[in-house]
Amino acid sequence: MSSHKAPVARSTEPPVDMLPVEDALDRILSFCRVLPSETRAIDDAVGQVLATDITAPFDIPPHDNTAMDGYAVQSASTDDAAESNPIRLRVIGELAAGYLYDGAVGPGEAVRIMTGAPMPDGADTIVPFEETDEFGLRAPGQEHETIEDVGILKAAGPGNNIRRRGEDVRRGQQVLNAGTVLRGPEVAVLASLGVGEVEVIRRPRVAILSTGDELLSPGEAPAPGKIYDSNSYGLSALVTQYGGIPERFGIAQDTIPALTAKINEALESCDMVITSAGVSRGDFDVVKEVLAREGAIDFWTVKMKPGKPLAFGEFDAPEGRRVPHIGLPGNPVSSLLAFELFGRLAIYQMMGRQPHPRPIVRAIADEDIVNTDWRRVYARATLSQDEDGRWHARLTGPQGSGVLTSMALANGYAVCPEDRERVHAGEECDVIMVDWDHPLD
Ligand code: AMP
Ligand code: MG
Repeated sequence: MSSHKAPVARSTEPPVDMLPVEDALDRILSFCRVLPSETRAIDDAVGQVLATDITAPFDIPPHDNTAMDGYAVQSASTDDAAESNPIRLRVIGELAAGYLYDGAVGPGEAVRIMTGAPMPDGADTIVPFEETDEFGLRAPGQEHETIEDVGILKAAGPGNNIRRRGEDVRRGQQVLNAGTVLRGPEVAVLASLGVGEVEVIRRPRVAILSTGDELLSPGEAPAPGKIYDSNSYGLSALVTQYGGIPERFGIAQDTIPALTAKINEALESCDMVITSAGVSRGDFDVVKEVLAREGAIDFWTVKMKPGKPLAFGEFDAPEGRRVPHIGLPGNPVSSLLAFELFGRLAIYQMMGRQPHPRPIVRAIADEDIVNTDWRRVYARATLSQDEDGRWHARLTGPQGSGVLTSMALANGYAVCPEDRERVHAGEECDVIMVDWDHPLD
């Protein structure tokens, strides 16, 4: 019986003409320029990058206010208060958040006050309800009789339970820097400053184009010899996930005029062009020919598996724009994986985000990862932690470059380095964490 440990035929010398993954990425990124900014509503700019610094026009909080529901009093009025010696203060008013108290708190007086309400003049401390004899007298929201006085059960030090004006942000302070990626908390900070719109780097419009006479669109009837175009749908989904705006230009037949027309159409509106297929050796040369004619395109073999053949270059587009093009391989796994490695960071860079790689964990390979030809192998794996907290990588089944489900099941890519023939089961390897929250089982 053959086993998965059968010796692997492998040439003794690595081929010299393959481009290392890092070099391919560097070259691609060197063509991706940061796009101009646009004005967007803050609730429509999540994931985008601030184009300007944001300075606070006022203090936050804008006024001293109470951090508790309770009574605003003068600390000195509560000096001798204790459970056994309640000090009675006269309640001179009531204040909800959103209003100012019209008057001042004097010795022996208290204003009943709700969280967030500005401190009344004269008061220097807040006694929470819990430290008065009012606590528990009424259910929240219930109507109550006007309270004439309240018993304070504990001495309150000056400044207790007060949120100071400007303790979060000072007027004139630079609160967010240009280059910051907007997440929920940053959007909240902007809102707290009263800012409703911001200048952010715009998202790239990414044209996605499939090539191949064998392709049908989902929804069309199956036909002999044909397969469905999965690449353009998967790629468009990834473009959205990574922050770009996908525009699918459908399927170009393998003819020069068909492909030329589609590319020109895409260049009218798009900032980046992604094609799939037509870049491997056995292909009809039309694809390569069109790309080479219409722009400055290189064809590379990248030292990775899957995803070896890759075209990359730039097109001249209307209005003097230059539009980068990533020509992905046709095999579905190769295409999605190469886009994950190169396309994601190309989009980040155009959006003004730092092109940070994904986090990598060291994990125990639960199976051998075999490397037959000196390329860096990205094996599709599920990552999980054992009871001792050690990470494990389990392959997601057959690893052929057409086995799309191996991608769908993966939340990590386990790496066998280009200079290793295999990672043995039980050995540690690097695993790129892709979607850590992807369902595991
Ligand atoms: P090619 O690069 O044109 O030689 O294509 C390599 C393999 O990928 C072939 O089996 C193609 O049928 C397949 N392929 C090409 N384009 C797509 C696509 N858009 N969706 C799914 N499979 C594709
Ligand atoms: Mg083809």
